[in-house]
Amino acid sequence: MYLSRILSPVQSLGPGNRIVIWTAGCTKHCPECANPELWGTHNRKNYTPEQISQILHRIAEHQPVDGLTFTGGDPLEQHQELLYLLSLIQDISGDILVYTGYTLEELKQEILSEAAFQEFTALLSVLIDGRYIASLNCPEAVLKGSLNQNIYYFRPEYQPAYEAYLHQGRKIQNFFLDSALISVGIHNRKESFT
Ligand code: SF4
Repeated sequence: MYLSRILSPVQSLGPGNRIVIWTAGCTKHCPECANPELWGTHNRKNYTPEQISQILHRIAEHQPVDGLTFTGGDPLEQHQELLYLLSLIQDISGDILVYTGYTLEELKQEILSEAAFQEFTALLSVLIDGRYIASLNCPEAVLKGSLNQNIYYFRPEYQPAYEAYLHQGRKIQNFFLDSALISVGIHNRKESFT
């Protein structure tokens, strides 16, 4: 599975202290995408789901983890590896948020088999779906990149925490990684992105 980076603890992409995993690879090329450097997979490390699971478990041994967030890139462009990885990390947290540029309907009708779709929706708590449309990016979208996207809850026990988070508005958190500033969160349009 092609990855760009893993950061933790992150409080700006979902409720609580989260491990955030950025996958590499996206063919959708939405105009003004916040992460165009993650469209390609060249020069990206290719890990097995077992290796990524080990890394995530090691992080969870050393700090409290309230949830995990998968973003990118589009994690669903590596859906076979993603589904297997999700099955390996259920013990870390039941709150797994996945971003995808596909719509839920596309996942169901075109991308995943019926069995894989059922498996996928049983393995995550929240899905945020759909292409990014820059003209629909506004602070009110909060965790969504743009207002056309949808939030689907598959584990209702986590919904209140998300609703409380959404009420607080967008958050940005800065990390220094390899001498570079990484600004993490959903940015308003025209801000600088990383
Ligand atoms: S789907 Fe997401 S990562 Fe892919 S181009 Fe659109 S905004 Fe960027």
